[in-house]
Amino acid sequence: MRLHEYQSRALLAAAGVPVPKGEVAENAQQALAIAETMGGNVVVKAQVLMGGRGKAGGVKLFDSAQDAADFTQQLIGKRLSSVQNPGGIVVEKVLVSEKIEIEREYYLAILLDRAKQSDVVMISARGGVDIEQVATETPDAIVKCYINPKWGVCDFELRRAIKQAGIDSKAVSQMVSMIKKLVFAYEQNDATLIEINPCVLTPAGKLIAADAKVTIDDNALFRHADLAAAAEQTAEDPIEAEAAKHGIAYVKLDGEIGVIGNGAGLVMLTLDEVARAGKKAANFLDVGGGAQAERVRECVDLVLKNPHVRVLLINIFGGITRGDEVAKGVVQAIGELNVTLPIVVRVEGTNAAEAQRILSSANLITADSVQEAAEKAAALAG
Ligand code: GDP
Ligand code: MN
Repeated sequence: MRLHEYQSRALLAAAGVPVPKGEVAENAQQALAIAETMGGNVVVKAQVLMGGRGKAGGVKLFDSAQDAADFTQQLIGKRLSSVQNPGGIVVEKVLVSEKIEIEREYYLAILLDRAKQSDVVMISARGGVDIEQVATETPDAIVKCYINPKWGVCDFELRRAIKQAGIDSKAVSQMVSMIKKLVFAYEQNDATLIEINPCVLTPAGKLIAADAKVTIDDNALFRHADLAAAAEQTAEDPIEAEAAKHGIAYVKLDGEIGVIGNGAGLVMLTLDEVARAGKKAANFLDVGGGAQAERVRECVDLVLKNPHVRVLLINIFGGITRGDEVAKGVVQAIGELNVTLPIVVRVEGTNAAEAQRILSSANLITADSVQEAAEKAAALAG
């Protein structure tokens, strides 16, 4: 789960990382009030979950509160798009933040390096809006320092990496301290990414995290009730928010065939087969292993909340998830939810024969293979 900048800042501030003062505004009036408390010297920043907001026109500096408010007025409701996010995202909130004077822009990140099976700190003296270019053209300008899972990072290792990265000598000690706090925040919050770009050195010699991106491991959200609540707020889609609340892996897509399967791989395969049959799926949904009838009912309910769904395609490979349990769940769900849409079900594996019997007696359309199920669903979608 990705956090907005204002949420990321709060998380870092709680760990003692220096961040600029700032508050969220949802309209020009609020922006004006906040900007006035800062003497009009503010930066207004669109709170959208995408990189490159600066280049997309979503970050602007001001020296008048009224100008900041006018910009907020223009920005809210506008769709911002960037190279990383060509489809764009509509701005609902802005962060009105005290304007920092910049002498140098550095780059700091902590993330999970899956190949090395280790968390890693990345440091560069060439932060700012072109860090992607730095990474591809001069990867040596980004210095890595791996975090030992037993004893973490030592000061001397950080100091060495920071110096190697060419960071100003007056910022070295502050950066060692900041990185240690970032590592602490990363571990405490089960993050998979913390990125500070830019990490600003001011003319007065102070190091400040002027932008922050934090991603939390979804599988650890049960340990962080406050962050999980934030996830509901930030989910871009109300159905995805609902799914997050129930702990269901659901991703909204733009087609018309509602898909439910067990196991991410099987669901992906089902999406591919739907595409091969010439249609698009309306969602990705993995019911998970060992899904009981009640769980299946929740999933059917969730998928049907999307008004574009015209056919429901359920693909289960019975292993831990017994086929007859799923079949019962489906029958129960369509009864309770008054489902009128056609439903195609394919069940294979444990108790498949029993499942077929339950489904057929409830007049559901069954299929023997994924391909057949996808083709039947595609035909029914018209
Ligand atoms: P991003 O483009 O989405 O990464 O948004 P950032 O928050 O990183 O802002 C983009 C750029 O705007 C930064 O690299 C800075 O150059 C500039 N910027 C952002 N905040 C400030 C600020 O407080 N003062 C100054 N002088 N520049 C800022
Ligand atoms: Mn940035």
